[in-house]
Amino acid sequence: MYQAKAYSAAAAQSGLAPATITRRDPTEHDVQIEILFCGICHSDLHMVRNEWGGGTPYPIVPGHEIVGRVTKIGAEVTKHKLGDLVGVGCMVDSDRTCPDCKAGLEQFCPNEVLTYASPDRHLGGFTYGGYSESIVVDEHFVLSVPSNLTPAAAAPLLCAGITTYSPMRHWGVGKGKKVGVVGLGGLGHVGVKLAHGFGAHVVVFTTSANKKDDALRLGADEVVVSKNADEMRKQAGSFDFILDTVAADHDINAYLDLLRRDGNLTLVGAPPKPLAVAAFPLILGRRSLSGSPIGGIAETQEMLDFCGKHNITADVEVIPIQKVNEAYERLLSSKVKYRFSIDMASLKAE
Ligand SMILES: [Zn+2]
Ligand SMILES: [Zn+2]
Repeated sequence: MYQAKAYSAAAAQSGLAPATITRRDPTEHDVQIEILFCGICHSDLHMVRNEWGGGTPYPIVPGHEIVGRVTKIGAEVTKHKLGDLVGVGCMVDSDRTCPDCKAGLEQFCPNEVLTYASPDRHLGGFTYGGYSESIVVDEHFVLSVPSNLTPAAAAPLLCAGITTYSPMRHWGVGKGKKVGVVGLGGLGHVGVKLAHGFGAHVVVFTTSANKKDDALRLGADEVVVSKNADEMRKQAGSFDFILDTVAADHDINAYLDLLRRDGNLTLVGAPPKPLAVAAFPLILGRRSLSGSPIGGIAETQEMLDFCGKHNITADVEVIPIQKVNEAYERLLSSKVKYRFSIDMASLKAE
């Protein structure tokens, strides 16, 4: 075991503060990673503040958008070598034996171990995430990050990237398809870039007209202000797929009406209250409404390789870890374009 610097929260109201945590020494299949950057996901904030009902275990070290360099490997490691640029997303282990794992869909494994706040099978207690100077992870859950991508901007791909990539792949987004992205935040802005990369016709739905130029810059072909009923009506029945990234209460039926026959709307944002869904928009067009979490490890690697090929990263504001509590407040008021990425070198000052 060894000690690592980190930022942790002691209680729901305490905010994050410097801490020292224990990491395991790499076992034979482990990779030790010096963390260079860690993105700030909205889940981090929900978990730190215990807003997801599950009962957050404290102290918590959040962070599941990790990019770093391999500093040590176990004797049996074949996937990564010293000095490699690598990433870790939302999972660090699973049982590898259940039907989901065998299908390469570890994200559905009933025994999945999340990167933070999951029971730690090695050290006891709970797993600690990426707001730290280093982490030790089984090689199977460590991804290769293409070297042409800027590490700070690649970090959010490990959660926001795969969360938007996976449903688009599942529902066959590609050339000749019309794709809507609802909401232009941390998830949505990556979704737009990916959909554009897939060669789809991309329409961004936003409540604020002033996001129009930015949406076009990110790769949208059209921008619709969702409050404008005329603009919405013109889009009726025309979409193959809509990715809904909005985490607040909103009228889902307005978007279901925009799907063509057999079109699908996938939720990746999680509004706190149940959404009211009208049956007729679904019935009349044989449309479907579904949700999607992250992707499996193989698909996450596929996503990173796709991003490498198309030079896709998140738009990030790099911050020192000392500004993390301030960043959470700005995240709540959507005052970030579009994702915070913590420069972990700043942790050395603690
Ligand atoms: Zn996340
Ligand atoms: Zn499994």
